[in-house]
Amino acid sequence: MEPAKLTVVKGDITKIAADAIVNAANSSLMGGGGVDGAIHRKGGPKILDECRDIVARQGGLATGEAVITTAGKLPAKYVIHTVGPVWRGGNDGEPGLLRNCYLNSLDLANKYQVVSVAFPGISTGIYGYPKADAAKVAVETVTEHLHKLTGIREVLFVCFDEESERIYRELIPGR
Ligand code: ADP
Repeated sequence: MEPAKLTVVKGDITKIAADAIVNAANSSLMGGGGVDGAIHRKGGPKILDECRDIVARQGGLATGEAVITTAGKLPAKYVIHTVGPVWRGGNDGEPGLLRNCYLNSLDLANKYQVVSVAFPGISTGIYGYPKADAAKVAVETVTEHLHKLTGIREVLFVCFDEESERIYRELIPGR
C-alpha cells in the first residue's frame, strides 16, 4: 500500500474539510484563545457541550492527552482536542509531551476510522513552543507513527502564518 500522504496547507483549520481537525485546547476543555477560540466560535455550542460532558465524566485533560467530539457546524466530522505543553525552556519534558499530543491524536483518529486528519501547530501560539522545534517533533512523530495506522491516508499540517509554512515545507519537501 502507498504510504499515507503528508500535506502542508496554509490557512485556517476551521475551514478544512478533513475527517478530523485537531484543536490545541487547554486542560479545562472550556475554550480559550487562538485556534481553540476559533474552533468553538465557528463550530457552535455543540462542541463545548460535548467537552463539558467529557470533563464531567473524566475531569480535565492532562498535557499530552487527547479526546474527541463531533465538529458542530465545521466542515470536519470530528474535533480531536489535545493539550500541548507550555514551553518552559525545553528542559521540562516539553518535546515528549508534544510528541504524546500527536501520538494520542493519531491513535484516536484511527480508532474513529478517520481517513484524513489536520493538525495546527500545537503549543506554538500562546504556549510559546518555538515553531521550528515544534514542527520537527510534529513531522517526526507523525512519520514514525503513521506506518502503524493504515486507516489514515492523509495528514495535513495547517500553517496559520508564512513562517510556519516555510518551516513545514522545508521539513516535507515537495509538499
Ligand atoms: P497553544 O496554546 O497550544 O500555543 P494557540 O491556539 O495559541 O495554541 O496556537 C497554536 C498555533 O495555531 C499557532 O501557531 C497559531 O498561529 C495557530 N492558529 C491560530 N488560529 C488558527 C486557525 N484558525 N487555524 C490554524 N491555526 C491557527
